[in-house]
Amino acid sequence: MPSATNHPLNIAIIGAGLGGLAAAVALRREHHNVTVYERYDFAGEVGASLSAAPNGSKFLERWGVDIQAAKPVILRKLIMHDWATGETQNEYPLGDYRAKFGTEYNNFHRIDIHTQLLKSAFETPGEGPPCTLQVNHKAIAINASAGSITFENGHHATADIIVAADGIRSLTRQQLGITPNYTLSTSCCYRCIISAEKLRALGLDDYIDNEAIEYWGGFGINKIVMSPCSNGDVVSCYCFYPSEYNNLREDGWSIAASPEQLLDTFPDLDPRMRKLFAEAEDIKMWRLYRHDPYPYWTKGPVCLLGDAAHPMMPDQSQGSCMAFEDAGALGLVFHRGFRDEYTVEAGLELYEKLRKPRATRVQEASFRAREDLNERIGWSSKTDRPGKLTVEEVCGYDMEGHLRELLAGVV
Ligand SMILES: Cc1cc2nc3c(=O)[nH]c(=O)nc-3n(C[C@H](O)[C@H](O)[C@H](O)COP(=O)(O)OP(=O)(O)OC[C@H]3O[C@@H](n4cnc5c(N)ncnc54)[C@H](O)[C@@H]3O)c2cc1C
Repeated sequence: MPSATNHPLNIAIIGAGLGGLAAAVALRREHHNVTVYERYDFAGEVGASLSAAPNGSKFLERWGVDIQAAKPVILRKLIMHDWATGETQNEYPLGDYRAKFGTEYNNFHRIDIHTQLLKSAFETPGEGPPCTLQVNHKAIAINASAGSITFENGHHATADIIVAADGIRSLTRQQLGITPNYTLSTSCCYRCIISAEKLRALGLDDYIDNEAIEYWGGFGINKIVMSPCSNGDVVSCYCFYPSEYNNLREDGWSIAASPEQLLDTFPDLDPRMRKLFAEAEDIKMWRLYRHDPYPYWTKGPVCLLGDAAHPMMPDQSQGSCMAFEDAGALGLVFHRGFRDEYTVEAGLELYEKLRKPRATRVQEASFRAREDLNERIGWSSKTDRPGKLTVEEVCGYDMEGHLRELLAGVV
């Protein structure tokens, strides 16, 4: 394989979230010149866990992201608790994911994996030229025919490809002529974290040592999802509740809440979990939305990626994994010798063909899983319901094989 591409592309990425950074890493490694534009002066992440199933972790490994430095906890089982008593009702061992699917089921603190992706994109060691980061660059207009971006600060940029990774409230999407059809979910979500030290003082050591995703509820709106991250130093909880409960109107990732609000929302929950809630830190609330799939993802040299392309309910823990897959797909399609095979435009069409059906299927299954835990991958490998997403389909996905079939015109 040549050491550099036969004509590197200039690629602009809008948004330095997990999706935008993953795309930067994947494209840098193919020796393209990548600039990432982020609207804020610091592209950060929130304090909560992020589980990366093998279909997402596979790309992190392939890109040489320092997974160990992101302090993962390897998830080994799923545990279902009785809502009111906390008694264990079901335990599903996950088995050896590396043997089955090639990589671990990693659970990260979101900030830790974001930091490692930043390093992989912008630091000098690594395959391909380091990407450039432009902060305080909020994209306000895109001209798809000219391949240009206008920023709020008055700057302009042009690129061979513009990757819009600007999240669920993407402005770029609208600029491409897509009007999202979305509804407010029945559910909102609190997230909170608590240190292992505090949990040990509370006598809740098993929550750290279980190496599990643990659930309370999940059949109906109410659901608590708990898992350890940061080498087991932190435990993170997502707590879903009916949106009419507090009629949350604000949008964003950092609407603060108190332990009292958490406790008031779940009065009849397992007393051990309530003990945790009373001491929980960094509690935030989220509104959730259901977006219908968009009609297309690309226009001219512009493509959508991550939540900008396929925002989904968090109930399959697959939003970032799908963004990592999108990024992986861009790296495969725009591999360093692609110009011998097709044009940039044809490559973007291929990207959409490769990604949209699969991401849409996961998006729809995430919606079904919002109020029905039986729809979540991992609870069963059987196709016990027509159309149900299985863990094999998600974690055992062979993107290279899929791409080869598309290129051969088989699919
Ligand atoms: C409760 C919850 C739990 C989740 N748990 C998991 C999980 O366990 N596993 C998993 O795989 N996924 C999970 N997800 C999904 C995951 O968080 C998202 O899919 C993922 O963060 C999307 O990344 P993104 O880069 O596409 O978007 P974002 O993270 O939203 O990043 C967008 C970036 O673009 C920037 N930006 C926005 N507009 C502009 C503009 N105009 N100009 C320049 N920059 C701009 C923003 O500032 C931001 O940095 C969860 C989601 C939720 C809500």
